Amino acid sequence: MDKYVMALDQGTTSSRCILFDKTGQIVSMSQKEFPQIYPNPGWVEHDPMEIWSSQCSVAVEAIASIGLTPDQIEAIGITNQRETTIVWDADTGKPIYNAIVWQCRRTSDIMEKMIEEGWSEYVKEHTGLLPDAYFSASKIAWILDNVEGARERAQNGELRFGTVDTWLIWNLTGGQVHATDYTNASRTMLFNIHELKWDEKIMDYFGIPMSMMPDVLPSSALFGETLDMIFGRKIPISGVAGDQQAALFGQCGFEKGDVKNTYGTGCFLLMNTGKEPITSKNGLLTTIAAGSSDKPDYVLEGSVFIGGAAIQWLRDGLKIIEKASDTQEIAESAEDTAGAYFVPAFTGLGAPYWNMEARGTFTGITRGCEKKHFVRAVLESIAYQVNDVLKAMQEDAGVRIRLLRVDGGASANTFLMQFEADILGTSVLRPRCIETTALGAAYLAGLYTGYWKDLQEIRDNWQLDETFTPQMERHDAHRLVDGWDKAVKTTLYAAKLYLC
Ligand code: ADP
Repeated sequence: MDKYVMALDQGTTSSRCILFDKTGQIVSMSQKEFPQIYPNPGWVEHDPMEIWSSQCSVAVEAIASIGLTPDQIEAIGITNQRETTIVWDADTGKPIYNAIVWQCRRTSDIMEKMIEEGWSEYVKEHTGLLPDAYFSASKIAWILDNVEGARERAQNGELRFGTVDTWLIWNLTGGQVHATDYTNASRTMLFNIHELKWDEKIMDYFGIPMSMMPDVLPSSALFGETLDMIFGRKIPISGVAGDQQAALFGQCGFEKGDVKNTYGTGCFLLMNTGKEPITSKNGLLTTIAAGSSDKPDYVLEGSVFIGGAAIQWLRDGLKIIEKASDTQEIAESAEDTAGAYFVPAFTGLGAPYWNMEARGTFTGITRGCEKKHFVRAVLESIAYQVNDVLKAMQEDAGVRIRLLRVDGGASANTFLMQFEADILGTSVLRPRCIETTALGAAYLAGLYTGYWKDLQEIRDNWQLDETFTPQMERHDAHRLVDGWDKAVKTTLYAAKLYLC
């Protein structure tokens, strides 16, 4: 009887379930979108019950659609949108408020106050993060402050906190297990990434009692077993990791110096830095890598806010393309951008600039600039931003990156991948399976149960789709990057002018 590993991939806009076989191939996939809730400008919520029911239904569907029996599911791995915060009643299992999603900015004021009070260094040193509303800590505090009676109930030990992985584990085990893994814990801004325990000082600052916090395990470990009634049999949950760390694992980023970039709505770059956490001087974050050891590896993480989102804007905002993939042919029909640069600072610029006032700019436009140049400049802007973050990473880690492994929707764009290799001066490797997030979660789960023997067996599964090697002369690449640097300076300068 063939067996498969189930990955539950709980994302920001949809819940998916993918079944993988021993060779790392997808044998079944099921997906369901769920509603986004925007109660106020800048606020984003999900209904935790919709997260749970959509995830549960796709899991059942993925098994049924190819006629498997529950006995054929070896183990479950969970990967999830990180930082999103849920608080529920320990007795009833009912959430006391909607999930506050990572994108939600409602707690910006709380975080500004914390920064003004001089907490930045402490937070950075202990959690590896820059204090921000993005992470779970201030979101928990907001729920405790704004749901009637919540603080008191929390003090009485009646409430539980969890990121989405924890919420799913809780429900899959019928409320018997309250746990998370190192990677998810390291994105709460409440976890000491060096001592691998919850940081009491930060918890006190937000008034969060320890009784709310889940146990923390390595990503490949036995978290619990599913209730009989869900799949008709108990199935071990033996892999858990936040989406970006799961993707690094799915890309076989096991060694110090391994780097992956996911080209999705935004771009997420992660570099494995081995057993030593590196503190960034360039605005990158330090978090924990997925693995099976209780002495985990660390990663440097940098993100680009607007990646594929710029392509969505061409399609849905400007309406100058019909579908995202059209950009490839259009960009290739132009020799260059006719001197134009686009800086997609729609919501500010992230690492290494960190300027939240910056807004998008086009520079160097002449009469000869046509649609094809415009589209090409938008695609190229994604590659330049990734180059900026990679430069910062190399500087922080003191290593020269040998190759970049890529995944995510926009990595399908061959023009973009070739241009990236040209600008970086480094080979770009695109695997056959670009569902690396789910694959990483499956690998973590299957490694624990022995479905995959060791990391080497997983490495052997990694299959190349295409390697993009640098074709451009280095001095040409440098000239282009110089132009980009000037365009970014223009953007930053404009932001300053508007502030005056
Ligand atoms: P997410 O997980 O963030 O939703 P995905 O990994 O599914 O993102 O990638 C979707 C993003 O990739 C969208 O922003 C889309 O515009 C972009 N995209 C998809 N296909 C292409 C393509 N062929 N060329 C350029 N961008 C693309």
